[in-house]
Amino acid sequence: MSSIPSERLGNPPNLDMTLAYHLDITISIVVGIFAFLNAPRAIARFANRSERFRGHTLRYVSLHHKPPINTNSDSVHLRSEPEKFTINANIDDSSEGCSTTFKALPTLPLQDTTSNPPSGGQQLVHMPMLSSLVATGILSRPVYEEYTVGHVLLMAGYAAMVFYCGFYKSNPFSDPPRVGWITASQIPFVYILASKNNVVGMLVGVGYEKLNYLHRNIGRLVVVGANVHALGFVYKWSVAGKLSIELAQPFVRWGLVALVCFDLLGMGSTQFVRSKCYNLFIITHVLGSFVFLFAACYHRPACIPFIAAASVFYGLDHLIRMAKTRIITATLRPIPELGLTRVEIPSLNSGWRAGQHVRLRVLSTGVGFSGLTEVHPFTIANAERKEEGMVLMCKKAGRWTTKMYELSAMETRGERGCKVGKSVRVMVEGPYGGIGNTVMSSYSGALFIVGGSGITFALSAVQELVRSENDSNVRVIDIAWGIRDAASLTPLIQLFSSLLEQSTLARLRISVFYTRASMGSSRGMYLPPGVTLSPGRFNAAKFLDDVVTSTQNKGGAMGVFVGVCGPSTLAMEVKGVVRTFDVHRRKMVGGIELHNE
Ligand SMILES: Cc1cc2nc3c(=O)[nH]c(=O)nc-3n(C[C@H](O)[C@H](O)[C@H](O)COP(=O)(O)OP(=O)(O)OC[C@H]3O[C@@H](n4cnc5c(N)ncnc54)[C@H](O)[C@@H]3O)c2cc1C
Repeated sequence: MSSIPSERLGNPPNLDMTLAYHLDITISIVVGIFAFLNAPRAIARFANRSERFRGHTLRYVSLHHKPPINTNSDSVHLRSEPEKFTINANIDDSSEGCSTTFKALPTLPLQDTTSNPPSGGQQLVHMPMLSSLVATGILSRPVYEEYTVGHVLLMAGYAAMVFYCGFYKSNPFSDPPRVGWITASQIPFVYILASKNNVVGMLVGVGYEKLNYLHRNIGRLVVVGANVHALGFVYKWSVAGKLSIELAQPFVRWGLVALVCFDLLGMGSTQFVRSKCYNLFIITHVLGSFVFLFAACYHRPACIPFIAAASVFYGLDHLIRMAKTRIITATLRPIPELGLTRVEIPSLNSGWRAGQHVRLRVLSTGVGFSGLTEVHPFTIANAERKEEGMVLMCKKAGRWTTKMYELSAMETRGERGCKVGKSVRVMVEGPYGGIGNTVMSSYSGALFIVGGSGITFALSAVQELVRSENDSNVRVIDIAWGIRDAASLTPLIQLFSSLLEQSTLARLRISVFYTRASMGSSRGMYLPPGVTLSPGRFNAAKFLDDVVTSTQNKGGAMGVFVGVCGPSTLAMEVKGVVRTFDVHRRKMVGGIELHNE
């Protein structure tokens, strides 16, 4: 600020600086309060030996229990009653001489609780979320897209603090530096909330993706603030007839570079750009956020503390991301019934929790040259410590996922001529996100309401719950899966059957609903007991009611976990059902906690 004469500032510079730092301190205190409220759940999770080390880095561990697995075929017979599987679906297997019934997933290893006790033999401590016990009513009411009243109130409070500090005894046209100070004070938060290894997320116990709305909205405030700051000076200099002289000053030019970076970031982040050209969004973000750090420092040395804080978190995030990155070989297999590519990574079999995702880059020109630069997030579709390693199910959604599907269709054949999938080198970064400090097995009941490829979340969660049955409180598990075509069920029947077979202590029920009537797709399909296939849509309210009743009947009072994964309309519907659930019954069962994946 030193090069600006004090009469131009309107306020003593230390008031601007004081307000900027006080704003940051206040925001940090608010984060601290949320962290304090989350502390009991974090303590309950980390007090559990096995939960402490899971969900941080991906690795390979040798498994004590190694069931035989046929790696020379993409089809594996079920251990029990294989003759019952007569699938009349759209089967595509022309391999001759291979013992193949239908395209399926490798069977799960039999339950092995001795080699991998999920809670390390410790008593699970259940720490409910406060919001799961009380009907949060108005706060969880949806307002717009994924925003609830709670989100809107939090953002409104945040914006009110920023505006108060920006305009307290200050007019942006006579005192533009104030807006500059307040804008600069927000830079660390924008960068922290953009990071994958997010310190705020760690403190409050949620994944970075759940805080992304804060990053977007604070980012918007910063873009508006930077423009108001610049316009204020342009106005002042124009009135004083000094515009061209001032614009020639190097610090002003650096300010303009910083402003262009912000405007690029702002424009590149619009929903229009993100949906039409996600890569443009990524490129403007990477370039804009990097160049801005230098431009802001050259613009005003007073920005350096804020830029330094942002750079530390930005740099640390990238270092941790590098440490969390693995370059390995994966096998891609097409699953036409589900319209997705199954990615198997046998050399990574540990280190994640149910619901976490990884960021995947395929190192093959099969996804196109521009596709090589793209990283896409996918939820891990199985529990850790399985013989098949990590499994991802990537639905054909756009250009890149379609190219990967086409690449997977160029399967290679094994020694006996059977399809073994397409081997490619991939870069896997993670794990990230997931259910935070929630310990799913500490609940009495669990309900998963998923649509389409959202089944990946339910699969990993239920595998984890079934495997930890001996140490788990969960006695009732329900999956309600909505699909378009009944044929989508075919590739998963074997896995469902295996889960049902292993689920001896908890009652597992899998209800599949299809909306498109397609002749022949499900005719002759054998459904194992516990799996039902019905036309139409599921009734989320009825499912929740059933799970709560069954949980209570089994004496469960540790709450019901509800996981939802699918289109935003499904998430909204389930949120509404949980929100309006009978308060008395909610308390009797120990609360209902909703996780939207
Ligand atoms: C946390 C998370 C977990 C996910 N898990 C799964 C999963 O298990 N299975 C699955 O099939 N899909 C999953 N998705 C969605 C999947 O990442 C996108 O479908 C995929 O990236 C689309 O890429 P595309 O280029 O083929 O499609 P495009 O046509 O480029 O994009 C389709 C839509 O996907 C979004 N998208 C594109 N690229 C990305 C990206 N790099 N990061 C985030 N969103 C992007 C865009 O909003 C776009 O509108 C997940 C997404 C997120 C955010």
